[in-house]
Amino acid sequence: MMQTEILLPDAAGVARAAAILRQGGLVALPTETVYGLGGDARSDAAVARIFAAKDRPRFNPLIVHVPDLAAAEMLAIFDARARALAGAFWPGPLTMVLPLRKGTGLSDLVTAGLPTVAVRVPAHPLAQHVLRDYGGPLAAPSANPSGRISPTRAEHVLDGLADRIDAVLDAGPCAVGIESTILGLVGRAVLLRPGGIPAEVLEQALGQALHAVGDTEKPSAPGQMASHYAPQAPLRMNATEAEPDEVLIGFGTVKGELTLSATGDMVEAAAGLFQTLRDADRRAGRSGRIAVAPIPETGLGRAINDRLRRAAAPRKSG
Ligand code: AMP
Ligand code: MG
Repeated sequence: MMQTEILLPDAAGVARAAAILRQGGLVALPTETVYGLGGDARSDAAVARIFAAKDRPRFNPLIVHVPDLAAAEMLAIFDARARALAGAFWPGPLTMVLPLRKGTGLSDLVTAGLPTVAVRVPAHPLAQHVLRDYGGPLAAPSANPSGRISPTRAEHVLDGLADRIDAVLDAGPCAVGIESTILGLVGRAVLLRPGGIPAEVLEQALGQALHAVGDTEKPSAPGQMASHYAPQAPLRMNATEAEPDEVLIGFGTVKGELTLSATGDMVEAAAGLFQTLRDADRRAGRSGRIAVAPIPETGLGRAINDRLRRAAAPRKSG
């Protein structure tokens, strides 16, 4: 248990928040929508800690916050539509899901292994100050325990996350109070989540109607998306020994050819999950299979097992 620092909205508070973020810590900070729980989007461990602090049962992708369009263009590929909307609505409560650029260094946990990334430029002056001082991309879902109401004041953040995060930057109530509008711009323009900017306003700016979320694009269940990362090789859970054609991924006392965490550390296991699955897939080759040691169904283990169950489920072809 850590003691959560309460930082004031002044130069010292901003500097402290940025320093914590650079060290891989978690800071809740005000945006114009709601308080976000920020962590280094390039650090698997920091992002794993976000999921742990929120007690999220799934590794759904997180929105990456950057200070301006130039920083966003380092992470995502913008087309003419995306650039026009950025010009019109950034900084502000618009999140765009765009094709992920190669070699960005973003954690696989931020994108949930998808070839897309959700980016936003927040307008709140303190969020801007922290982003610029910190100097990197920030993963920041709402700063509340999973399933609870989004926080619009620092007290709400502390109600849910006290002693689970390093600090909260207290700047009073948020102006918009509802989440950002999420627009998918990979192919056709799809309204993935209504939010702070009305859909009609976006339609006006785009000069076309937005598509509704289709069954395969439901943002509430991104893990079910057809393009979601899963290894090629068949996968078996709760394995304590490898069969001859299996690559065993260990955890804790179950030793394997690879391991999620030799010490049974959940944050380490979550942080390395996607990379370990990729490595196991490569080792398994065309005909091999993957086996994974039992992971306790508590805390981050729920999200890890959720992902493993999806990978273990019978595959649809195509
Ligand atoms: P929150 O956790 O409140 O920040 O919300 C994040 C939302 O953005 C979720 O609904 C996600 O499904 C959606 N999202 C984030 N990244 C992506 C992505 N790469 N592709 C599709 N949806 C995304
Ligand atoms: Mg939320």
